[in-house]
Amino acid sequence: MRVILYAKPTIKVSEVVEYLSKKIKQHCVEFAGDFLEKYPPSNIDRLSHEIARIRVLNPNKEFEYNDVTYGEIQFEKKVLERKISPHGILYDGFMLQYIYRELIPLDKRSLEQVHIIFTDRLFGTFDEVDRRYHSRVILLGYPSLISTTGIVEAPAKPREFYIQKILLGHDPLAYEEIKEQFRGRFIDHGDPRMEEVLKGYAMQAVFYQVFNEAFCDNKICRLYNSHWQEEVINSQFTEPEFCKKHRQMAKSL
Ligand SMILES: [Zn+2]
Repeated sequence: MRVILYAKPTIKVSEVVEYLSKKIKQHCVEFAGDFLEKYPPSNIDRLSHEIARIRVLNPNKEFEYNDVTYGEIQFEKKVLERKISPHGILYDGFMLQYIYRELIPLDKRSLEQVHIIFTDRLFGTFDEVDRRYHSRVILLGYPSLISTTGIVEAPAKPREFYIQKILLGHDPLAYEEIKEQFRGRFIDHGDPRMEEVLKGYAMQAVFYQVFNEAFCDNKICRLYNSHWQEEVINSQFTEPEFCKKHRQMAKSL
């Protein structure tokens, strides 16, 4: 089996590649650079259009394709050309995964190849129970997608953080002050701990494809499906790395 990681140059993953290479001994781990440079779309305008159509405009509504404007297509094209970042936009995760999957050549789409794409796009999935979209850090599947923006945005910050935020209103300076007050208790943009967190999520993607094992219920395990930032920090930074069961399984990788 081959584990292939993709990331734009703006997303640092060298430590993640090194970590996986150490953990995975039976299989080959490689870094293939920017996914879209490795598998460029045959028509960038069409791809920009397809991506603009899967933006989530109303998080309280189930997925449907959007009617898109020329400006939105041009925006997505600039994102694909790495001229701007897709900051502030939520995409439907399953549709994004489908678009990426279609770009992987057929001979590279086999269960012997684990494709993991690190992206700065924020994606979400629609929850049938509470009937709304939730942003996600990871979408397991083919390929697995891991969002650096999702690590910051998806797991909730400490409850007190939101209370403080409400009390202080919308003043951006006050917001920075609250962030300072809670520093260390959540992962922020440009956080030096980002790569360490990515390692754990990359392992989730590997476990999913190799063992068909999705998440773990044990809060100390790196495979734990964290809903809170403090759970992310707890599961990704404290020893032991994995619960007993997953430690055993990791040894056979
Ligand atoms: Zn576990």
